[in-house]
Amino acid sequence: MSEIPLSQPDITESEIHAVTNVLRSGRLSIGPRRDLFEQLVAERAGRRHGIAVSSGTAGLHLCLLALDIGPGDEVITTPFSFIASANCILMVGAKPVFVDIDPSSLNMDPRLIEAAITPKTKAILAVEVFGNPKHMDTIEQIARKHELPLVEDCCEGLGGKLNGRPIGSFGRCGVFAFYPNKQITTGEGGVIVTDDHRLAELCRSLRNQGRSESSMTGHNTTNTAGSWLNHERLGYNYRLSEIASALGAAQMERLDELLAKRRDVIGMYMRRLMDWDNLVLPNCEPGSEDDRSWFVFVVRLSTVFGHVERDRIITGLRRHEVGASNYFPCIHLQPFYSRELGFKKGDFPIAESISERTIALPFFPSLDQTQVELVCHTLKVMIQREQLLKQ
Ligand SMILES: *Cc1c(COP(=O)(O)O)cnc(C)c1O
Repeated sequence: MSEIPLSQPDITESEIHAVTNVLRSGRLSIGPRRDLFEQLVAERAGRRHGIAVSSGTAGLHLCLLALDIGPGDEVITTPFSFIASANCILMVGAKPVFVDIDPSSLNMDPRLIEAAITPKTKAILAVEVFGNPKHMDTIEQIARKHELPLVEDCCEGLGGKLNGRPIGSFGRCGVFAFYPNKQITTGEGGVIVTDDHRLAELCRSLRNQGRSESSMTGHNTTNTAGSWLNHERLGYNYRLSEIASALGAAQMERLDELLAKRRDVIGMYMRRLMDWDNLVLPNCEPGSEDDRSWFVFVVRLSTVFGHVERDRIITGLRRHEVGASNYFPCIHLQPFYSRELGFKKGDFPIAESISERTIALPFFPSLDQTQVELVCHTLKVMIQREQLLKQ
């Protein structure tokens, strides 16, 4: 058997057909596929507007710009996430204010948020880490109480729900992402979702070089060159192509199938790893299994181990052609954050302790029983090796 990758996009003839159709159509940007893709994602999140953008990071950047967040402002967020969820705060010149996480959900601990609010706080940016929506409703209430906009970084949670409410429906706006390791992919891409009409218009303008809505239909239409070249504000080129949008729309049609397959793979892992000592499995809230949209499968070593053992286990897995990674190193300890912003070890002890012991294992819809068996067997050997080395 060959290498088992950490993740793998699930592409069928239907996606290939959708993409080749766009290539034959001659319309490669700003067209009907983008509109369709936006609509499908917005519907799934229970939102009125969807704004397709070139990446999840671009989407988060535009949300903060549209909320008028800038230098002198603070945004409360989590240190345990992919770097983009804090980088977007720096991109607009604001300051990320981290709060530590809840060890069971790995999301921002809502009990710590209020103490972090200052007169400079302009927003809360919360992440459904690994697709786990826990606390998002509580965080929404805190944001409402303090009249702060909540930006939902739902890049890891497409299609999931919390108490019947779709992920993406909690914030003033939310952002999904479609890099190839996400639940669905457009190669690169993202969609902003919101019910706020003004915010949606602003994001549409900002992604398209600051053009106003009236000139948004593209230069190959009856619009005059004058309106295509009329720029109301400083904007960006964060558009998503028709090629990527067609791929995304075809993937959206298969979302339920893909999420069900991912849940099956989680089940296979859970059954095999359930009663291992020295391993903490991701928390499955009882009764909510069908609602979960799994992004990755991340286990963690118990506290008898540290990052040295964890890193050796990851190296060992890779040497045996099993994909593995350390999702996530803490954002505040990234070289840039500690050097430029002065964060240091000990600032967020729970996030730090957990991030030293996490291991992401191969996880994608087509992963089969034999492969899961092989991953778990290899992991077991690597952990036993570390136990022997300790004696
Ligand atoms: C994937 C992801 C993003 C956005 O990533 P892009 O690669 O820019 O699409 C943002 N935040 C989180 C938490 C993510 O997992």
